[in-house]
Amino acid sequence: PVVTRFAPSPTGYLHIGGARTALFNWLYARGRGGKFLLRIEDTDRERSTPEATAAILQGLAWLGLDWDGEVVSQFDRKDRHAEVAHEMLARGTAYKCFATAAEIAAFREAESAKGVSYPVFLSPWRDADPATHPDAPFAIRMKAPRSGDTVIDDQVQGHVTIQNATLDDMIVLRSDGVPTYMLAVVVDDHDMGVTHVIRGDDHLNNAARQAMVYDAMGWDIPVWAHIPLIFGPDGKKLSKRHGAVGVHEYQAMGYPAAGMRNYLTRLGWAHGDAEFFTDQQARAWFDLAGIGRAPARLDFKKLENICGQHIAAADDAALLHEIVAYRAAAGLEALTGGQENGLLRAMYCLKDRAKTLPELLEKAEFVLASRPISRDEAAQKALDPVSRGILHELTPRLQNVSWSKENLESILTGTATAHGLNFGKMAAPLRSALAGRMVTPSVYDMMLVIGQIETIARLEDAAA
Ligand code: GLU
Repeated sequence: PVVTRFAPSPTGYLHIGGARTALFNWLYARGRGGKFLLRIEDTDRERSTPEATAAILQGLAWLGLDWDGEVVSQFDRKDRHAEVAHEMLARGTAYKCFATAAEIAAFREAESAKGVSYPVFLSPWRDADPATHPDAPFAIRMKAPRSGDTVIDDQVQGHVTIQNATLDDMIVLRSDGVPTYMLAVVVDDHDMGVTHVIRGDDHLNNAARQAMVYDAMGWDIPVWAHIPLIFGPDGKKLSKRHGAVGVHEYQAMGYPAAGMRNYLTRLGWAHGDAEFFTDQQARAWFDLAGIGRAPARLDFKKLENICGQHIAAADDAALLHEIVAYRAAAGLEALTGGQENGLLRAMYCLKDRAKTLPELLEKAEFVLASRPISRDEAAQKALDPVSRGILHELTPRLQNVSWSKENLESILTGTATAHGLNFGKMAAPLRSALAGRMVTPSVYDMMLVIGQIETIARLEDAAA
């Protein structure tokens, strides 16, 4: 059975690169009846915060990425990590190193004076006779192979060869008893039964060292897939300069979660030329073979386009649910029951062409507002005396008709023609009267949604 994991370090917010990594792992597991686990890599006590962990969980929840079992804290497992370091000692695949920090620093200094940029410290204790060991604090170092190559068989990067001579005997347990990150990752992935590690290619170099730990313990190496990082539209590594990089920022901008999932799935992975797809399709299609080797570029136009398609395709009740959550997250006033019902009735004419939830809500103003309708500046301008006269003349014609699109069309176009106006000219004061703004659904849709009595009342208000 497939077991994947997301292993963020809780030092900030959930970056969209991290979210994409989580998404790939989630899709891979969910598409195969496997498990998706969450491990918080909180061993860096200075930089890890509970707020950051909360932000990560919140971001995953918003994106709908559910994990199996309890959230694992890496820090809580430190005794187990130390135990494995001692097991390596017992197996002879690690040794006690008594070199002091001062000795190592002196070595580094001497090497860099010689112009060596990546000095490889070779501990004199590697092959020392235990009888010569002093009674002093020691670190546990892995006895790494000194010659030959370590080859990473990566599902995205192919065979990556690292010369063993370029790697030092890394420390797995510091002299103060604190396990190193590199050890912790391997022990945790092993103990959690992780079969597939999908993560950013900034960890590719770590993989060589981690492979040595697996070997030292006689454990099976998981399937590795190191995915290229996300770049900005200019081809440079994504940063705040390019715009929003935190998942919470996209949530606050009102992108629908389904659209975000779809877009992030496509960011660096392809299935033929499919751009828009459902969650079911993503789960069924997602594979490691479809991950590209070149860095994907963030493309806001494409994101909006995909999000617009998801809004248009969404189930009305689900969309309402998402709008309610969005308003709460954005600190907007909660909708009343009447407003929610109005939104549901209007949804058919709001869903098209809205790329974000606030865009949809802007067009929904006619159904959210109640009399007296407040008007923005453009709407105010549209109510000049001539237009008000036309509205005044229109209202009695709307009484006693049966409320259908055909009837409304013939009344409105008839009135426009009588005044020598095209319908566009008529639409502006009607939008103003009905919605108090110019960005609205069609005049007919608004009238049909709010109904005859309310339409007439709003037109009378505007004509007055
Ligand atoms: N904690 C690491 C990070 O946030 C991920 C380590 C891993 O996936 O192996 O970059």
